[in-house]
Amino acid sequence: MNDYDYIIVGSGIAGLYTALLARGQGSVLILTKGSMDECNTKYAQGGIAAAIGHGDSAELHYRDTIAAGAGLCDPEAVRILVEEAPDRITDLINFGVPFDTLDGEVALTKEAAHSVPRILHAGGDATGEHIEVTLSRMVRQARVAVLEHFLATEIVVEDGVAKGVKAFDCRTGSFSEFGSSSVILATGGGGRLFKYTTNPDIATGDGVALAYSAGAEITDMEFFQFHPTALRLPGVPPFLISEAVRGEGGILRNADGRQFMFDYCEEGELAPRDIVARSIVSEMKKTGSDCVLLDVTHLPTRKISARFPQIYRFCLDHGLDITKTLIPVAPAAHYMMGGVKTNSWGETNIAGLFATGETACTGVHGANRLASNSLLEVVVFAKRIIERTEETLGTGEIASQRREQDYFHLSVRKAATAIPHPSLPALQSLMWDRVGITRSGEDLKEAASTLASWHEAVAQPSDRPSYELNNIVLVGRLMAEAALIREESRGAHFRSDFPEPSPDWQRRIIFRKTA
Ligand SMILES: Cc1cc2nc3c(=O)[nH]c(=O)nc-3n(C[C@H](O)[C@H](O)[C@H](O)COP(=O)(O)OP(=O)(O)OC[C@H]3O[C@@H](n4cnc5c(N)ncnc54)[C@H](O)[C@@H]3O)c2cc1C
Repeated sequence: MNDYDYIIVGSGIAGLYTALLARGQGSVLILTKGSMDECNTKYAQGGIAAAIGHGDSAELHYRDTIAAGAGLCDPEAVRILVEEAPDRITDLINFGVPFDTLDGEVALTKEAAHSVPRILHAGGDATGEHIEVTLSRMVRQARVAVLEHFLATEIVVEDGVAKGVKAFDCRTGSFSEFGSSSVILATGGGGRLFKYTTNPDIATGDGVALAYSAGAEITDMEFFQFHPTALRLPGVPPFLISEAVRGEGGILRNADGRQFMFDYCEEGELAPRDIVARSIVSEMKKTGSDCVLLDVTHLPTRKISARFPQIYRFCLDHGLDITKTLIPVAPAAHYMMGGVKTNSWGETNIAGLFATGETACTGVHGANRLASNSLLEVVVFAKRIIERTEETLGTGEIASQRREQDYFHLSVRKAATAIPHPSLPALQSLMWDRVGITRSGEDLKEAASTLASWHEAVAQPSDRPSYELNNIVLVGRLMAEAALIREESRGAHFRSDFPEPSPDWQRRIIFRKTA
C-alpha cells in the first residue's frame, strides 16, 4: 500500500529540491536522520557552476567537465548537465536563492580547472547555507510531510520493485514502515569514512549501504575526492578553505615559505584538485610538516572579508587573522564521486528506486569532480527524476538490465592477525592511512581484509551511531575493494604501484550484492 506518492530520504539540497518539485505531482514524505538542516549542503562554499557568463558556453563547460573526469565521465550525462544548467539556475533564483550580483548581473567567479569564470555564489562563501535555508523554508511552508530524526534502515523491495522504506525513530527507538512507488535516496556522501574530512557527522554513506543491501548497482567507489585545502589547526575541525580562495589569487607555500605548485603543474594553484592534494602531501613529506600554508595576505583586506566572510570569520574565531597570517592547510576527504548507479533519469536498476545528489552516481564526475558541479548535478538530475515519475508514477519500469557476470562482488577475506573490535575512530584511521590520497596494493589488501573481518564482527545496530557504523564498514569495503581492483592511477584514484592510467581500465567497476 502506498502511504505517499514519493518518499525522499534526506534533506540536503537533493532531498529538498526534489520534494519541492514532487509536491506538484502527489503526496511527499521526507525522512531525515537528524534535524532538517544537518547535511553537507549547508557547508558548500564556492558555489554552483553554470555556463551563463559572457564568453562561456555549454560546450566549454562540457569540455572542462570531461577533462577533469579523466576518461570516465558518461558523455551523455555531462551533456545533459551542462545544457540544462542555466534553466535549473533560473529555478533556484525563482525559489529565492539570493545569488550575489555585480553591477546588476549575477557575479561569477573562477575555480580550478574551469576555463572561464562560471561559479555563482551566495553570501560570498555561504552558498550552501543560503540554498539550504531558502529551500527548507519553502518545504516547511509546502504540502510536504517531514519526519526529522528518522533514519532509513532498509529499502523494502518485493519482486524486484521498491515498495517503501523502513525507518528507525532515533528519539523513541521504534521502527516504522512507509509505502511508496517512488523511493528517492538523497542521503549525501561519505566523508566520515576518513579521519580528516570537511564533511559533517551525517556523511556516513548510508544511501550506498541501503541501496547495495537492497540489490542496487554501486559504481565508481574507488573515486573519492580529497580537497587540497582544509584548515589544519590543532583541536579545530578541518574546516574547508574554498578553492575560490586560490581562484581569487591565494598562493600555496611550503613550510619554508616557498611557492611550490608550479614545480608540479603549469596551472599552478589552479591545477585539478587531485594534483594539488598530492603535491601538498609531497611538500609536507619533504619539509617534515603536517601542513602547507595558504597565503592571501597580498589581497586587499576588504576583498577577503567581503568575498570570504565565513572563512575569514571562522579563522578569526580560532585566533587566525588571514589578512595578516598564512593559513595552515592540508588535504581532507571531501566528496564521494561514486555511489548508487543511475541512468540519466535518476533511475537505479531497481524499479521504483531513484537516487540523487552525492549518494548517486550519474556518471557526470567520472574519476574526478570538477569543482562546483555537484550542487549543479543535484538540481539537473532531481528535475529529471520528477519528469520521469510524471510519466511512470506507480508503474515501476526497470531502468537497466545487466548480466550477472558484468558485476564485481565483495571478496571473502580474513585479517591475517587478530584485529580489535570495529570502532569509528579505528575505521577512519584505517581508511585515511590505507585507502586515502596515495594507495598501494599492499595497503589496500590489508584494509580490505580488516574491513571484511569488521563486517562480520560488527554488532547488530540498535541506535543511530551503530547503524552508521554498520553502513560505514560496508561502504569502506566497497571503496577498498574497488581501489584494489583498479590497477592503475586515474583522476582521484592514485596507486603508487600503478602510477599511470591504463587503457584497460577505461571502464567502470560496478558492484552488486550476490543474490
Ligand atoms: C565543506 C563543503 C563545501 C562544499 N562546497 C561545494 C561547492 O562550493 N559547490 C558544490 O557544487 N559542492 C560543494 N560541496 C559538495 C556539496 O555540498 C554536496 O555534494 C551536496 O551538498 C550534497 O547534497 P545532498 O543533498 O546530496 O547531500 P547532503 O546535503 O549531505 O544531505 C544528505 C541528507 O541525507 C540525510 N541522511 C543521510 N543518511 C540518512 C538515513 N539513513 N536516513 C535518513 N536521512 C539520512 C542527512 O541527514 C542529510 O539531511 C561541498 C561540500 C562540503 C562538505
